[in-house]
Amino acid sequence: MAQIRMLDERVIDQIAAGEVVERPASVVKELVENACDAGADAVTVEIRDGGTTFIRVTDNGSGIESDQVQRAFYRHATSKIQDVDDLFHIRSLGFRGEALSSIAAVSLVEMITKTKDALTGVRYCIEGGREREFSEVGAPEGTTVIIRDLFFNTPARRKFLKTPATEGSHVADLMEHLALARPDISFSFVQNRQPRFSTSGSGDLKEVVYRIYGREIAKELFPFSAEREGLRADGFLGTPQLVRPNRNFEFFFVNRRYIRSQLLSAALEGGYASRLMQHKFPVGWLHLTVDPTRVDVNVHPSKMEVRFSEGRQLSAFLEEQIRQALHDREMIPSVTLSPPAGPAAAAPAAPSQDSPESGSARELAGKLLSGQIPAGPARPPQPFERRRLTEMEVRERLEYEAVKRADEPDRTEGAEQLNLFSEKLLSPGAVKQYELIGQIFGTYWIASYQDKMILIDQHAAHEKVKYEALMKKIREGKPDSQNLMPPAVVTLTGAELALLERYREHFARAGFEIEPFGGNSCAVRAVPCDLYGSPGETLLRDILNGLETGQRPGTPAAVTERIATMACKAAVKGNHRMERVEMEALLDQLLSLDNPYQCPHGRPTMITMSRQELERKFKRIV
Ligand code: ADP
Ligand code: MG
Repeated sequence: MAQIRMLDERVIDQIAAGEVVERPASVVKELVENACDAGADAVTVEIRDGGTTFIRVTDNGSGIESDQVQRAFYRHATSKIQDVDDLFHIRSLGFRGEALSSIAAVSLVEMITKTKDALTGVRYCIEGGREREFSEVGAPEGTTVIIRDLFFNTPARRKFLKTPATEGSHVADLMEHLALARPDISFSFVQNRQPRFSTSGSGDLKEVVYRIYGREIAKELFPFSAEREGLRADGFLGTPQLVRPNRNFEFFFVNRRYIRSQLLSAALEGGYASRLMQHKFPVGWLHLTVDPTRVDVNVHPSKMEVRFSEGRQLSAFLEEQIRQALHDREMIPSVTLSPPAGPAAAAPAAPSQDSPESGSARELAGKLLSGQIPAGPARPPQPFERRRLTEMEVRERLEYEAVKRADEPDRTEGAEQLNLFSEKLLSPGAVKQYELIGQIFGTYWIASYQDKMILIDQHAAHEKVKYEALMKKIREGKPDSQNLMPPAVVTLTGAELALLERYREHFARAGFEIEPFGGNSCAVRAVPCDLYGSPGETLLRDILNGLETGQRPGTPAAVTERIATMACKAAVKGNHRMERVEMEALLDQLLSLDNPYQCPHGRPTMITMSRQELERKFKRIV
């Protein structure tokens, strides 16, 4: 018969560690939360090798009294609650007293800590749960925790870690969220001995956004705030021009904690709904201050998701406020703009009124927002009934559509057109025998060719030609680049940076020259010749986003192909107008390709209709 025995403490700690410590990012999260709970207003985090070999978190908080240090590493040891009642008024981030014991069970930990009143500090080392050293040291006020060789004694768990680059990008994401959650704390983040970003702790959220995401984004933001009983929302929203292809730039914080919430995403997107194109997502950083009794932050073990009581009303309220804020913002220039009235208006004393951000405009916005000025007839609150698709559903649907299109490009044409148009009639030898008739709908060109009428999709054709030219050079191993003068400096998120790092070689092979430019920025110094003229900044970002959201790219060749595909798509996207001569040149190139009929995404570049089919349509023949 099997023996039933009690597990020893260390085994219990290791099991518990499985729940708290999943990867380096979870360690960083626990340590930084402890620092915040200890009242620190400056926290420095340094990692190496994605945090797998080295994590150091230094704070200037309260420190731990020397006779309490060992106890902090016991399981269920916490200074933050005493009894069950306390659970309902929790203000601190941690309270389970599990983090330090769990981390110590699966790594080599060194803690140096000193309180304000103590003369000296303490150095405490604990390895795999075994105490190694406890000594007095000189130390500054606050606490430093160093974690080395995470999972050194649990190889099974270590196997689940991804590459250092991926783990590092999780930590980088986390650090960004923490800094955004607490603009009042100064954060510094150092990765592989390189400073990534630091914030001043001035309390200004926009400054944090600027430090992390750069100028291009910060300058497209406007402040937002709304309040009603039991709820305050403050933050910054992107202008409708600032959009993203996914939800990566929708940030929500509830009571200074970063969370993900479909409810809040739906509210934000709902507020922008009429202003954004399909499959485009708004950008925003919103801090919600909610009565703690009205929100349950523990529905998700890593506390990233929350449940609101009266969630629907909250969402409807926010959606309406955001819609209103966008509306007001658009109204402001026309309200305050006084047309230049002769030379007097140009006098230096006249306050500048030409920007919606200028003083009086902003004041007015503030008054409108806070309800001091009624903003038009009051609208009845809109019930929040429309069910929005979950992110998963949207992604599945998009993928499905993409696959459908790639597999059977002609199915989408509809039955009637299928009969009318055939697609495999041009021969490459017959170049220059066409006549370009003209353009319709600003997008399609009509040409005649022998006894056929051809309709060409300008975008698809353009993409195809660029793509083939680029791929040919890549295959021959001699992509030629064109320098950008000046280089395009792009600020990337941690995740984007990691992707760039991972596919660095592929970018180089395709003819890109990209260099680190300090912090989260990189400089695009050169792009493949065929893409010259497209803004390097959006180009890079679109490629990275394509790499991220696409299905997992397989072979190196597949990755390069994907980069080329995305690059060409991005390069062509912005070009709407095309002159006749340009189109002729493009057609020449298109028709000389082996397969001119489909763009790299599998959409048709052209459809044709024979004279015979036309005549049948007009009932000239039967
Ligand atoms: P919890 O945060 O849930 O209380 P932890 O295991 O994370 O549990 O920490 C245990 C205790 O150690 C905390 O309650 C706190 O008193 C102390 N502590 C941990 N980190 C710090 C720190 N950086 N500064 C001051 N005290 C700390
Ligand atoms: Mg803790």
